[in-house]
Amino acid sequence: MSVLEAGTRLLTRAVPACISELIRGKNERSGVRIETSTIVERIDAKAGRSEIVLADGRVLIADLVVVGIGAVPNTELAGAAGLAIDNGIVVDETLATSDPDIFAAGDCCSFPHRLYGERVRLEVWRNAQRQGPAVAGNMLGATQPYEDVPWFWSDQYDETLQIAGLCREQDVPVARSLGTKGRLFFYLAADGRLISACGFGSLSAIAKEIRFAEIMIGRRLAPDTEALADPTISIRSLLI
Ligand SMILES: Cc1cc2nc3c(=O)[nH]c(=O)nc-3n(C[C@H](O)[C@H](O)[C@H](O)COP(=O)(O)OP(=O)(O)OC[C@H]3O[C@@H](n4cnc5c(N)ncnc54)[C@H](O)[C@@H]3O)c2cc1C
Repeated sequence: MSVLEAGTRLLTRAVPACISELIRGKNERSGVRIETSTIVERIDAKAGRSEIVLADGRVLIADLVVVGIGAVPNTELAGAAGLAIDNGIVVDETLATSDPDIFAAGDCCSFPHRLYGERVRLEVWRNAQRQGPAVAGNMLGATQPYEDVPWFWSDQYDETLQIAGLCREQDVPVARSLGTKGRLFFYLAADGRLISACGFGSLSAIAKEIRFAEIMIGRRLAPDTEALADPTISIRSLLI
């Protein structure tokens, strides 16, 4: 099996470089050939198989091609209704669109996130799940800003990837090794505030630590970096 990726590393939009490398290593050890900075120009059908023509002139033959090149929000209806569109349906903190009588939630909406001071559009199921009741409450007059910490998970073979918060290139990671059970990376903003945390490894080792990190991010805590890196200190103990 081969993975052809146009970007310089895997999963650029979703995970920081250190996690990309762990995922690449995991896949390569399982026999997957990975080529980054590789552009597919076109795919031709040839005698029941697929001929993949690359921008560098090479041609690969495949029995099966799975194309995963991103998603585009379906905003035609909202646009036709005259609502503001900018990388999705533009909503305010309460998920109201530019027409105060119309709300949007889930993958299709871009909303200002208080924790990050920027507009985000998330394509993860927990965001869609939690924005549903939040938007319903606001349609009934609650006027509550939506500020859940983004959270994302995926499985890679027998290991789990979990991310709380938004990974940004400018934040410097603090690494914590969990030995054979995996690794955690914590990202802090310039003011010391925990911004995001990523874990890759066994579900039982990763899940609870990322949950505590998520609480820390939501509470805008600035944990001690040496404690974050020290596997003998529980993440939970840093919550207070
Ligand atoms: C291949 C794939 C893998 C994924 N893996 C993960 C994962 O591992 N972890 C994770 O957290 N998330 C994952 N996601 C993302 C997750 O599925 C989405 O975040 C979630 O489904 C978004 O829910 P939603 O209700 O906002 O949108 P959707 O589930 O897309 O639902 C929107 C619905 O609106 C309908 N619709 C659109 N326009 C109109 C219209 N004009 N009129 C009427 N209906 C309309 C659409 O047909 C669709 O049924 C994955 C998504 C894909 C595609």
